[in-house]
Amino acid sequence: MIKKHLTKTLFATTFCATVLMSSFAAQAAVIKSMRFWQSPESTRVVFDLTSPVEHELSVLKNPDRIVVDIPDSRVSVDLNQLEIKSDLVKRVRQSKPPREGVLRLVLDLNKSAVPKSFSLKPYQEYSDRLVIDLLNEKREAIKPPESAVGSNRDIVVAVDAGHGGEDPGALGPSGTREKDIVLKLSKELVDAINAVDGLKAVMVRTGDYYIPHRKRTDIARKNRADLFVSVHADGFKSPKARGASVWVLNLYGAKSEVARWMKLQEEKSELLGGVDSTVVLSEYDNSVRSVLLDLQMESSIAESFKVGRKVHSAMKRVAPKMHKNYVEENSLLVLKNPDIPSILVESGFISNPTEERLLKTSSYRKKLANSVKDGIVEYFKSHAPDGTKFANLYRKNIYHVKRGDSLIKVAKRFNTSVSEIKKANKMNSNTVRIGQKLVIPN
Ligand SMILES: [Zn+2]
Repeated sequence: MIKKHLTKTLFATTFCATVLMSSFAAQAAVIKSMRFWQSPESTRVVFDLTSPVEHELSVLKNPDRIVVDIPDSRVSVDLNQLEIKSDLVKRVRQSKPPREGVLRLVLDLNKSAVPKSFSLKPYQEYSDRLVIDLLNEKREAIKPPESAVGSNRDIVVAVDAGHGGEDPGALGPSGTREKDIVLKLSKELVDAINAVDGLKAVMVRTGDYYIPHRKRTDIARKNRADLFVSVHADGFKSPKARGASVWVLNLYGAKSEVARWMKLQEEKSELLGGVDSTVVLSEYDNSVRSVLLDLQMESSIAESFKVGRKVHSAMKRVAPKMHKNYVEENSLLVLKNPDIPSILVESGFISNPTEERLLKTSSYRKKLANSVKDGIVEYFKSHAPDGTKFANLYRKNIYHVKRGDSLIKVAKRFNTSVSEIKKANKMNSNTVRIGQKLVIPN
């Protein structure tokens, strides 16, 4: 990790590169405000600036603190009045500058943390920003839900509320932010899913903080998710654009992700398919690996389409309009899961006043969340993974023969064949009687 060399001036090793913007001006930059975002693993501190700055970070121990030196700057916010939403950061104070013209801020911490910093350019209502991520030193490993193991396990659905923290997503005409709407909708989806016997939902983002895309899929993988659902709301420059939509990854995006995975495998051999896969990639040579990954990606895309279609048609019953009549494809980064079927739900356009109003209404969101859940249930009823409660509940269909039925009709209805039904029911003849119970094979 980071080595600290304390000198007489209390200046530790600077390990973070300074950032210089081209528009750097001679006049002092002002820190107008500070914001804090807490996630389970880190705290993000954001300095809102009047212009871009250079900076240096130092990590100090006993007590734990981070020193931030910013040349040619001053602070206009009252540091004693900060609303610090963080378990990690105790307070922020100004300290004696190391040399003239340098602003030195000290972040006093409750425990040690590893800092990472970078600059952000103005975006939407935000001006130039300096971001300091403080990662908890001891991070707890994610444990999959208890019900996700065993032979009668729950199917795990990872629900990922898009954006968060510094990334507000799309903006509605009345000021609604996508990150807030989709967090609410995601919670409602989680509740709807958890109300179904045999399903278990986990939230990828639980509060108002940002998670990088690959980290999101990582969280899903560590929770042993069977399905990844990313929840978003669209924004467009024209307020006329409207309609909900369902997206899956296209094959082109998938291929490039396979290539990336391959490269990763060169460096460290990981398990194919996450934590509990039985296939260890390093056992195979490169060409076999690539074929395996290709196959897995293709099957995960095929499954994504199937579940996407179910969710699309379920949402269609609730949403006033679907953007397209079919599941759309894109090479969206958040969907690049080689091993987990993944869909992205755009709940509507919050840039459209009508849809914004709807999405702000909890009764509409609940209806929409329920429809997404219905689509997921529909899919898993016929595609339950082995060893799941769903497989035990729904795989063996019992059909009661009705008037006018014949074996051929029943076989057709359940997408199977007469001989399969006869085999499953140990039948010798083709005749059925009304009220007879037939086991329908999967
Ligand atoms: Zn979005």
